[in-house]
Amino acid sequence: MKAPTFHDHNLLHDIAGKVGTPAYIYSADVLRNRIKEFNSAFSGYPTTLCFAVKSLSNLSILKMIFSDGFGADIVSGGELERAITAGVSPSKVVFSGVGKQPEEISKALDYGIRMFNVESPWEIEVIAEIARSKKVKARIALRINPNIDAQTNAKISTGLYSTKFGLPETELPELLAAIKSHPELQLTGLACHIGSQITDIKPLAAAAEKMAHLAISVREQGFPLQYLDLGGGLGIQYHNENPPSIAAYSEPLIRAAKRANLELIIEPGRALVGNTGILLTKVVGIKKTPSKHFIVVDAAMNDLIRPTLYGSYHEISAVTSSSSNDKVVCDFVGPICETGDFIAQDRSVCLPEVGGLYAIESCGAYGSAMASHYNSRPKAAEVLVEGASYRIIRKREELRDIWAAELSELK
Ligand code: PLP
Repeated sequence: MKAPTFHDHNLLHDIAGKVGTPAYIYSADVLRNRIKEFNSAFSGYPTTLCFAVKSLSNLSILKMIFSDGFGADIVSGGELERAITAGVSPSKVVFSGVGKQPEEISKALDYGIRMFNVESPWEIEVIAEIARSKKVKARIALRINPNIDAQTNAKISTGLYSTKFGLPETELPELLAAIKSHPELQLTGLACHIGSQITDIKPLAAAAEKMAHLAISVREQGFPLQYLDLGGGLGIQYHNENPPSIAAYSEPLIRAAKRANLELIIEPGRALVGNTGILLTKVVGIKKTPSKHFIVVDAAMNDLIRPTLYGSYHEISAVTSSSSNDKVVCDFVGPICETGDFIAQDRSVCLPEVGGLYAIESCGAYGSAMASHYNSRPKAAEVLVEGASYRIIRKREELRDIWAAELSELK
């Protein structure tokens, strides 16, 4: 799916005037279409679609996604509470993560989530102990690290032994013995997630096949599994990538689950929401050094850290037309005091006016969700566009919100 530009520039100007900038703006229509595509690609096979809450955690967006039947993939107690607040059914929640805390495990057991995707050997003991003290049974899956290279950015690659994620299949005999020794544990599935922004179907298909074989072998050892959780990871088009369609992506996954005779779980994040949102920003000024032109905008690395963190590319579209026709190669940078604070580099653009608006495209996933207060900048507003109207779904923070927890302790 090509990153959709929000074509209604009048609406964007209206939002900038009333809500201010920077602001994340999401399209309800684009999101609904994407939800439909996922639901229809997996409709022919028993599948639970668990949205990866980490990718975009705004409550109003979560509510839309859960009300269309999705469950949630969570990685913290905070995400658990968010998902519950947004109306997820606990029976469709899977809990991943390498360092689940006892309080988080306890809360998840109280809610009765579908399963914990165990990623570290000690977790088996901790979950068993907490379940025993509550006199409940805990459903778990083993997240396997299949040692498959997802061929994506190293910082979002999770399927190799060089990363902290999952458990090597070589440890399965000890892990299964440990599970067997705890009557309060029920092994309900196997899981894997090999990385994010994956644009080649082959590693995903290879991981799915490997997991199906492992699941068959685990079942033969006396564990009546129910689920094969194949994670998230499907990439989107930010620039010139050519990711598989959701339908093409679903085929090897369904084939593997069928082979293992298990229900399928997937955990999409970016592929569902990445191209549903933009970050709207305003030009603060234009600076020229002997070597470069800089367009300084009011969005910064605290609003969108992906370019700084991963060297990620985001398209930049002019919302306010320029009065100049001369193109200049520029860097788009924010006001933060870091050389690494850039949104886009070496882009050929007509120089804008101060106050002109730009849309930073494809900011739906890992945009607002990764925002910080660095440089004491309040988190930006979030806005949902529906047809020709819009509503605020997260108020812009006030400065006092940032230091409230410090002010109360100030002596
Ligand atoms: N599942 C797990 C366990 C993850 O760690 C992630 C992201 O890192 C996802 C799902 C979502 O990945 P994506 O946004 O690439 O679909």
